[in-house]
Amino acid sequence: MKRTTGQDRTQTRNWRPATRAIRGGTWRSEMGETSEALFLTSGYAYDDAATVAARFMGEEEGMTYSRLQNPTVAMLEERIALLEGAEACRTQATGMAAMTAALLCQLSAGDHMVTARAAFGSCRWLGDHLLPRFGVEVTVIDAGDLTAWEAAIRPNTKVFFFETPANPTMDVADLAGIAAIAKAHGITTVVDNAFCSPALQRPMEFGIDVVAYSATKLMDGQGRVLAGAVCGSEEFINDKLLPFQRNTGPNLSPFNAWVVLKGLETLDLRAKKQSENALALGKFVEARVPKILHPWLDSHPQQALAMKQMDACGPIFSFVLDGGREQAWGLLDGLKLIDISNNIGDSRSLMCHPASTTHHNMGAEGREAMGIGEGMLRINVGLEDIDDLIEDFDQALTKVGL
Ligand SMILES: *Cc1c(COP(=O)(O)O)cnc(C)c1O
Repeated sequence: MKRTTGQDRTQTRNWRPATRAIRGGTWRSEMGETSEALFLTSGYAYDDAATVAARFMGEEEGMTYSRLQNPTVAMLEERIALLEGAEACRTQATGMAAMTAALLCQLSAGDHMVTARAAFGSCRWLGDHLLPRFGVEVTVIDAGDLTAWEAAIRPNTKVFFFETPANPTMDVADLAGIAAIAKAHGITTVVDNAFCSPALQRPMEFGIDVVAYSATKLMDGQGRVLAGAVCGSEEFINDKLLPFQRNTGPNLSPFNAWVVLKGLETLDLRAKKQSENALALGKFVEARVPKILHPWLDSHPQQALAMKQMDACGPIFSFVLDGGREQAWGLLDGLKLIDISNNIGDSRSLMCHPASTTHHNMGAEGREAMGIGEGMLRINVGLEDIDDLIEDFDQALTKVGL
């Protein structure tokens, strides 16, 4: 195995994003394959006993066991780090394995974490149920309010954890503002960037310390595999994340890593085109429904902040109907092209009713606090022809009297 031509680290960092997404981190075996090789192996064999001993002592580079290193997984990690502009990256089996690892690797009993009310349901579960069981105190705040972050800080606060835009309310949090407050108090910021991917938003450019991903979403982008990733400084990854990950084993399978490598080749194209479709569809939907939550439309209260942080609107937006669950389900059931599905980031357009699916577990009170009503629908806009998407919406909206 050797790096392909031009792959020394300084050069790859000069490449523009679309080039990094296709070529970054590529190693080639002696076969000279053009596409990245898939090393579906758990173990490695050695020429002699001295070699394996040197590798175990860290005196010689090389693979020893796939929970510690795997060539296909390593290519993906290097590529994601390049796209993110991060010093280092490690991948995990799912987005939730990534979030859990990013938090548990640095929090201990007696520490305190501040987190956002509007978030992916399982991310809220970590703060509401898992961390408190291990003696970590958690305060939940409204991420859009900078004074709330400041006010929640205690002497033992170690981590700020949030996502932007948030699922499914599309609340936008001020990355630079929150990072500055955290830095002033020696607090580590962890951002879940699954809604955007590095093609649309790179939180480290705004001072965020750790960026965690569900690579299941835009990075794979074709609804095939689950995957996760954590990006940070060499120091964070080597000193905090790696000891946790290598000993607890939430690793990404080499096969899934290979699928995500293929996904990254088209990430830039897909993210831009899906955003273009989401903007056009958002404008059409806005004229027909009482309320839309779309970061690129004038009606979004944080439109300017969203446009400062994101390169494009991304594939996801939500909207609210006055007729509650009955009208929302009626619209879903009336769709002929767009699928009823709770996944996002896929190249297919998918729509879901958060109150009865992704945020069902929160209970009515929890949903009300997050602003998720029975009339809310969330859509992931895919790569289909925009005119077909508009026609499907048009006929489904007409069926429910809109
Ligand atoms: C999907 C998602 C996750 C969880 O990722 P999995 O790959 O499903 O484990 C976390 N955060 C956000 C914002 C997500 O959309």
